[in-house]
Parts: sequence; C-alpha cells; structure tokens
Amino acid sequence: MNTLTVDLGDRSYPIVLGNTADWIELLCEKLSGRTALIITDENVDAAGHLEKLEKALAANNYTDFQSLILPPGEEHKSLATVEFIAKAAVAAKLDRKSCMIALSGGVVGDLTGFAAAIYMRGIEFIQLPTTLLAAVDSSVGGKTGADLPEGKNLIGAFHQPQMVALDTDTLSTLPETEYRNGLAEVVKYGMIMDKDFFALLQNNTEKLNSFDPGFYAKIIIRSCECKAGVVAGDEREQGSRAILNYGHTVGHAVEKLSNFALPHGRAVAIGMAAAVRLAVLMDLCSKDVEALQNQLLTELKLPTRLPENSDVDAIVQAMKSDKKNSSGGITMVLPTAVGEVKIVKGVDEELLKTALKGVL
Ligand code: ADP
Ligand code: ZN
Repeated sequence: MNTLTVDLGDRSYPIVLGNTADWIELLCEKLSGRTALIITDENVDAAGHLEKLEKALAANNYTDFQSLILPPGEEHKSLATVEFIAKAAVAAKLDRKSCMIALSGGVVGDLTGFAAAIYMRGIEFIQLPTTLLAAVDSSVGGKTGADLPEGKNLIGAFHQPQMVALDTDTLSTLPETEYRNGLAEVVKYGMIMDKDFFALLQNNTEKLNSFDPGFYAKIIIRSCECKAGVVAGDEREQGSRAILNYGHTVGHAVEKLSNFALPHGRAVAIGMAAAVRLAVLMDLCSKDVEALQNQLLTELKLPTRLPENSDVDAIVQAMKSDKKNSSGGITMVLPTAVGEVKIVKGVDEELLKTALKGVL
C-alpha cells in the first residue's frame, strides 16, 4: 500500500493506493457516526465494484449508507444530475455531517464533488476513482463541477475531498480506450515536471501497453505525487497550477470541434504535439524534445496529429473562447525541455497556426 498527502493545511487529505482491504478501515473510521451516499454509474456497478465496496463496508460494521447508480457518460454531467444526486441525498437523510462517496471515473467524481460542495451549503466527500484518468488526475485537486449545454465544466466549485483511495484491482475491468485516455495525462506529468518519470515511461512502454497492474500502481502514485505537489503550491489556479493545462488548450478546442467524439486523452495527446511544435518554432526547445514526446505518445498508441480535415482557423477561434483565456489573447503551456515547461501569454496567432498546420 502507498499513501501520500495533499498538503493544504487544515484541508490536507491522504491519497491511498492499494486494494480495498488496505484502506477500508481508514474509510470506515472517516465515516463512523455519519450517514453516507455512495454514487457510482451503471458500468462500474455492472463490473461488480459497487457490490465489493458495499460488502467491505458491511464487513467492517459500517452500514449507514445508501447507493445511487447513475447512467454513465459525459452527457449526464449536467445540473439535472446534480439535482438528482441532491434529492437522493435528502431521501437518504444526509445531514450536514454526512458524506458523499464517488465510486467511478471523472464524470461521477466531478458531479459528486460539486453536489457535496453545495448540498446544505457543503458537506464532505470522498473520491474512490475507478478509471486511470480519475486516479491520476481528476480525483486529486478539488476541481468539481458539471457541464452546461454551452460548454464543459462551466459551473463548479473548488471542494477538496476528505480522502482519495484507489483499489488497483478495479482497473482490471477498464476498457483499453479508457486506459489510453489516462496515459495521455501520465505522459503530461513527465513532460511538465519530471524527466526521470518520463524516462521510466519510455523504458516501460511494453508494461504500459500490457496494462501490468503492478507497474500501473507505480505510475499512478508518481502521477499523484506530481499533481499533489502542483495543487499544494497553487490550490485555486492563480499561477503555477496552470502548468497542468499542458496539451489542454489545443486539446479542449479539438475535443469541442469534434463534438466530444474525440476522447479527452487523445485530444490532450494531439494538444501536446501541437504545443511542442509551437515551442520548437519559437526556439523554446529543440526538435529532440518534440521527437521524444511524440515517440512515447505513438508507442502508447496515442495520436500526435490533428484529425483529418481539421480547420486550423476554427481551432484557434475555439481556443480564444476557452474560459481560461478570458482576458483576451491565448495563453499556452510550452515545453522548454523534457520535464520543464513555461507559461506563455499572448501567443502569436500566425505562429500558432503554422504549428497547427505542422501537425495536420
Ligand atoms: P473519466 O474518468 O475518463 O473522466 P468517465 O467517468 O466517463 O471518464 O468513465 C469512463 C467510462 O468508463 C464510463 O463509461 C464509466 O462508466 C466506465 N468505467 C469507469 N470505471 C470503470 C471500471 N473500473 N471498469 C469498467 N468501466 C469503468
Ligand atoms: Zn485532462
């Protein structure tokens, strides 16, 4: 079992990695004397993970909970679902001392965190991620929210969980495409802040491609260490936390232009390829950095080129309307070396277009 702490003063919390038996006692300790609502989705339930958790809680004499199973998918990441969760919380008699528990990927995690942030003006919640993406990214850091028809994550709140715990066995039922989505974020950590981690990934692509659980435990903990460090330094994204957006400025734009048919991780991989291309054009880094990054992405079966027939002007337009660029001008995270990035404001649009054409 591995444990690390997200260091946020009196809102610090542990991230625990292992299997359910390793952390169930700690979870029951946190829930002791309180009611809880477990929120999951149909796929996670069908894979048997809800039943496993419920049995483990009961075996540890904690029975004061109810479970809510949501339909899966980003299309349900809406305010209507937040209301649905809140109503289920009322029905389950959750009070101000109660706790919500998210057992699923990023969608349920974000919704549950947001529902917890506003239910009775805020109750505690716990994240039990079951996807690689949620384990290495969305479950840590306290960003919660829902989508509006006008855009993704347009409403939300910063609300830190009380604990994050992962049973690595749950990943064994995860579809391959979901693994690869998470891997894009893992490569991102190597690129933005940890060249040794990047090298570890480079040297172990076979293990990554065969989804070796032991090796995954190792890369998840390292990724969480990276994310926890960044979040502790800048909880509300006033400055340095923005480095986590590497690959996401172009990524979000292509995701949106595909009407979200392009999965997030693949969009981020393309976004990283575009960002490193721009960095080379701006003389911020050498072509070697680009080659190393793109080779790793390719070995992990992630794309490094824009979808066919992409409209470069439309991508730039979509980037400008991103909520993170509200002050006008485009801000991007660009690599200066493997393991190092720089936040660049007011990116030259013509050069950006040239970079995008370079990854067409
Ligand atoms: P993400 O975590 O990538 O943000 P989602 O929360 O939408 O995305 O989860 C991705 C998909 O994987 C959903 O359809 C979800 O139901 C499913 N899923 C989540 N965890 C597991 C698991 N451990 N086994 C099988 N399917 C899972
Ligand atoms: Zn992401």
